[in-house]
Amino acid sequence: MQNSSILQKTKTDDGFKLSVIIPCYNEEEALPLTLEKLKKLSNEWSTGDDCKSIEFILVDDGSQDRTLALLTEATIADQQFKVVRFSRNFGHQAALLAGYELAQGDVIVSLDADLQDPPELIETMLEKVKEGYDVIYAARKSRGIDSLFKRKTADFFYWLMKKLGVEIINNHADFRMFTRRVLNAFLNFNENNLFIRATFPIVGFPSCVVYYDRPERLAGETKYPLRKMFEFAIDGLTSFSVIPLRICSGVGLLVSLLALLMLFWSIVVKIIGGAIPGWTSTVAPLYLLGGVQLLFLGIVGEYIGKIYTEVKKRPRYIIQEKINFRENNESK
Ligand code: UDP
Ligand code: MG
Repeated sequence: MQNSSILQKTKTDDGFKLSVIIPCYNEEEALPLTLEKLKKLSNEWSTGDDCKSIEFILVDDGSQDRTLALLTEATIADQQFKVVRFSRNFGHQAALLAGYELAQGDVIVSLDADLQDPPELIETMLEKVKEGYDVIYAARKSRGIDSLFKRKTADFFYWLMKKLGVEIINNHADFRMFTRRVLNAFLNFNENNLFIRATFPIVGFPSCVVYYDRPERLAGETKYPLRKMFEFAIDGLTSFSVIPLRICSGVGLLVSLLALLMLFWSIVVKIIGGAIPGWTSTVAPLYLLGGVQLLFLGIVGEYIGKIYTEVKKRPRYIIQEKINFRENNESK
């Protein structure tokens, strides 16, 4: 009876179609196992009569290794596998977006190519959709496998994001499932600075979180080294919160008030006649103010940079090739 909720939302009466989106960047080591596992599991998902078909959209984000060859092989063996090849590396978020834009499904799920997002969880997520939820966020139970540094910086990041007014699900990356109506709403966000995990909570609709244990990467190396992680975190912050700008104005105001008090004090000392020009009181505020000004210029610059990339409205990714797409959105 509950199954009808997806069907009602998607206006189909003979079962729903599931789209599985997987961004891949230099994943030759992990892909063979991942593809095999997905194929095996997909038979289980489609045995029920509500899931009528499945498509796998594998986005090759300009890999330099054998990723494309492996993906192409999979498309020849099985029409369920569809491949999009970018003209160069556009990044994980752009790859996800391309998958979302090309998805034909009534229910869509995205996950990593390295089996760190266990595909077994998809069944549980589908159950949640059947219960009536439109967005299911998969979040890690714990960060046990991460280094102490990564754990602490991640905790700090989620804490800061929340403090700055950004709605974000703790320890949820990009493993999520959602219905067609959520996707349609999401696709109206035309931002160039992509930080998809913070966009979905803005879209709304009934949502829930399911928790899972995140295993180690199956093979290969993380495509998010420390530098990229920090860049991503700063991007997320400045794309979703203007509070840092307000902090700049607030501190600016405070410092100006203090400066006024200093001025007042120095005039009083001058009048009383005890003015001994002090080196410390000249140099210390100079350094302090110089530092604060530079820092704040930097923060303001971050936002100007964002506006700059937004107004240019460059394409968020460029597709070089598509394989096995036969639907009417082929020209996209
Ligand atoms: N990825 C991508 N483009 C990039 C970097 C990563 O498509 O520029 C893909 C990658 O192949 C993987 C997913 O995004 O499927 C997440 O990357 P990774 O597993 O390296 O990140 P981590 O799990 O270490 O945070
Ligand atoms: Mg991973």
